[in-house]
Amino acid sequence: MIVYIAIDAGRCMGHGRCYAVAEDLLSDDEQGYVAQCGQTLQIPEGLLGQARDAADACPEGAISILEHARADA
Ligand code: SF4
Repeated sequence: MIVYIAIDAGRCMGHGRCYAVAEDLLSDDEQGYVAQCGQTLQIPEGLLGQARDAADACPEGAISILEHARADA
């Protein structure tokens, strides 16, 4: 299973709650938005909890956790 975090640039309003609870995964830009806005990133091993916390913390529902079965699994 490969797990991704996706951040919807159309929804992100720069509340800054996501990177506060997922500091190993996300960071802020100079305007307070999450620097990974608009990106889909593979979640490194061990950081799924932070990713889920970030998704739960976002008041705009901008963060999605996507799971994909590995083709070779
Ligand atoms: S908490 Fe949500 S709205 Fe705020 S910066 Fe993070 S993704 Fe954007």
